[in-house]
Amino acid sequence: MPTPSTLPKDAYRLTKIVFTLGPSSSEEAMLEQLITAGVDVCRLNMAHANHEWTRSMIKRVREVCKRSGRHIALMMDIKGPEIRTGDLAEPIDLEEGQLIDLLPEAGKAEGKVPAVSVNYPGFGRDVSVGTRVLVDSGLIQLEVTQVSPARVRCRVVVPARLTSRRHINLPGVRVRLPALTAKDRGDIAVGAEEGVDFFALSFVREADDIDILRRTLSDMKCDAQIIAKIEDQSGLANLDEIVVASDAIMVARGDLGIEVPMEELPLIQKRAVETCIRMRKPVIVATHLLESMITSPVPTRAEVSDIASAVWSTADAIMLSGETTTGRYPLECVQFMKRVANRIEQSAQKGYNVSLPLKTHKDRLLRSSVLLASEIGEAGIVVFTRNGSLPQTLSAFRAWRCPIYAFTDDPKVFRRMLLNWGIEPFLMDFSLEPEQTIRDAFNYLLRRGWVVPGDWLVVVTNVLAGDQVVDTIQMRPVD
Ligand code: PEP
Repeated sequence: MPTPSTLPKDAYRLTKIVFTLGPSSSEEAMLEQLITAGVDVCRLNMAHANHEWTRSMIKRVREVCKRSGRHIALMMDIKGPEIRTGDLAEPIDLEEGQLIDLLPEAGKAEGKVPAVSVNYPGFGRDVSVGTRVLVDSGLIQLEVTQVSPARVRCRVVVPARLTSRRHINLPGVRVRLPALTAKDRGDIAVGAEEGVDFFALSFVREADDIDILRRTLSDMKCDAQIIAKIEDQSGLANLDEIVVASDAIMVARGDLGIEVPMEELPLIQKRAVETCIRMRKPVIVATHLLESMITSPVPTRAEVSDIASAVWSTADAIMLSGETTTGRYPLECVQFMKRVANRIEQSAQKGYNVSLPLKTHKDRLLRSSVLLASEIGEAGIVVFTRNGSLPQTLSAFRAWRCPIYAFTDDPKVFRRMLLNWGIEPFLMDFSLEPEQTIRDAFNYLLRRGWVVPGDWLVVVTNVLAGDQVVDTIQMRPVD
């Protein structure tokens, strides 16, 4: 079985990089540069993709991976429920204090008050007098003054030009839209058929939303992992149960920045990262990390600090969106992210997360392996896995100076581990003889320059003692 990683040891990074595919990054040559530069996960944003494009891109990413010898994971980002205004024959130039009607059902303008349809029949049921309605990423702010099922009258608080099909946010309102739309189900069927590794679900409000997606995937015989995008106040209120129900979390700062006061964002990000680490689930910090690089070849100083703070917080991954979909400098963005992440990671003192709750003796054994590797100093931890769970716990210890070399014989597990902090996954057949498997792993690391003779490795494995299989931690020199 080929071992799909050609990254040299000096490219090792604790913090993973997710990039979003789009016109700027989808040409083969650019894709190859991004993949060899070290992106870990490719995101397909279904808000802007049709099925033909999606299938052809998945094929292309896999071909480029094969050619370049470095495999990355695929994430399909499902649009989820969304409220939008309808089509307008002409844009409406709104003025402060004027009235506008939002029509959840087919209806007409009444008198001189202009009207626009909305695509959600339950709109009138979910809002009430005083509800703030944010349109077009909050550029337009309205306040509800009158509600009937067929007409929601609003006063314009912050005016701007209203054009067709603008996104509506209702901060703090418990919107009763279904977790998945018909479009989402069609997209999911394509992702399942194509074998994507992760589905990210937008606007997750409660654990039930994740369960609905999990059942949908299971009906399609798909065991891909689910990433819950936290992007509104309901998602935040139910964060703990959502983390438990999902396989990973994305802090979707774009929509969050509309749904909550902006100054709350750093606190929310901190809380989400800490919760995920405690619950041993990967967490992605997304959106605007290098927004200015959509048009500029260098980032702002504030963006560098933003990346640094995500890296210091030990978020598993940082994500590029517009920067790599329509931006002019996709490769430079990845290079900057790497530079900043590497610099910050190198500055960290040796140490690990001593407050991770330990539930089992196996957890205690894993903590001992982290302690031993830290004490030896810069020693890697070698672990063998068929489902990714042991490496994921090792990752949650967040040991700054102990790379986790996770060997698996399952390509799916290999790709999933690309999202985990500190894990360098390797795909390798396991021998029936455990000692041979360890030797094969050491030889692999040696051949690829990840270790040199004289290095020490800590190995977490089980061995046969008499007729019993026992868990062990071994300290072994590389020779
Ligand atoms: C976000 O809102 O930050 C986000 C990642 O979601 P999307 O890009 O799908 O709107």
